[in-house]
Amino acid sequence: MNRYSLLYIIVACCVFAIDGSHAQRRSVNYTPKLEELPRIPIDTIDTADPETKLVLFTNNTFCYYRPTLQEKLDSLQAFNEYWDTTQVFAYKSVALNDLPELIDIKLISDYQDFCAPFVAKVRSKYGRRGRRNHNGVDLPLKTGEPIYATFEGKVRYSTYNSGGFGNLVIIRHSNGLETWYAHMSRRNVSVNDYVKAGDVIGYGGSTGRSTGPHLHFEVRYFDQTFDPERLFAFEEGELKYQTFALERSFFSIYSRETDQLEEYDDFENLASLKDEDGKEASAEDILAYLSEEEKAKREEEYRKSQEVYHTIKSGDMLGSISRRYGVSIDQICRLNNISRNTILQINRRLRIR
Ligand SMILES: [Zn+2]
Repeated sequence: MNRYSLLYIIVACCVFAIDGSHAQRRSVNYTPKLEELPRIPIDTIDTADPETKLVLFTNNTFCYYRPTLQEKLDSLQAFNEYWDTTQVFAYKSVALNDLPELIDIKLISDYQDFCAPFVAKVRSKYGRRGRRNHNGVDLPLKTGEPIYATFEGKVRYSTYNSGGFGNLVIIRHSNGLETWYAHMSRRNVSVNDYVKAGDVIGYGGSTGRSTGPHLHFEVRYFDQTFDPERLFAFEEGELKYQTFALERSFFSIYSRETDQLEEYDDFENLASLKDEDGKEASAEDILAYLSEEEKAKREEEYRKSQEVYHTIKSGDMLGSISRRYGVSIDQICRLNNISRNTILQINRRLRIR
């Protein structure tokens, strides 16, 4: 065997060895077809569309996933705590001072996600009315005109409210805000319904404590009110911000978007009927809306209405009259400018109280 033959054998062996190991590797690392692998979701990835996720599976496949509104909202904290469908106020256990001084409220992701509740010039603004608060804005309308959900959300309250709101719908939104729609002629949603921005949630009216067709609209955060005109330009039907910096100081009836003077509230006669949280208006509340002259007149009428008189009949004596009315003889004498010895004339009117 010459050296060339030996070289040939060595090369051939190497080729065989390489080829053999290659064949062996192929048989061990055989890649099964995709459909033969278990398809288990292992991750979700955000996409450019905030509504759409990309789901990755163990078998190197993926799919797009768009949760339903219900799935999306039910996964959020705002819909999993303080959810009370029976009362207007859901956050009674949270005090104003428990809230942060500044809260960034993301209102929308794009302008498709907003709809004005009703487009009109604000007739009565947010603010103090005498001794009472006007906790929202009043938008004039015609009975039966549709009212729209401002943002997507879930209906927390939908009932006829005997405290003054009339037909009232409260919608909670993903960012924790609640929008209130009052005095409607008819409600179009029920509690726990999911709504999108622009869904018709009811129709304008004048139910409850109202003197004419209008929408009373409030915005609240943890039950606390602030001026809805901070967020919405109602006359233009526009939203002012995409993200709103809500300051705790805004939760005051004296904190308003504009100090522009306005005409007095003519839709909700705040001195009549009931308070918005169901309490009867007190005499004090009513007096707060009257002029000084009117007040004096009413106080005089009230005093007069409390006066009691007795017409003297045969046989009456001061002692028997005082016992009968439960007042002292001295009081009767004082009120009528007489003494204990004055002779009582029949048919004279004596003031007792
Ligand atoms: Zn109002």
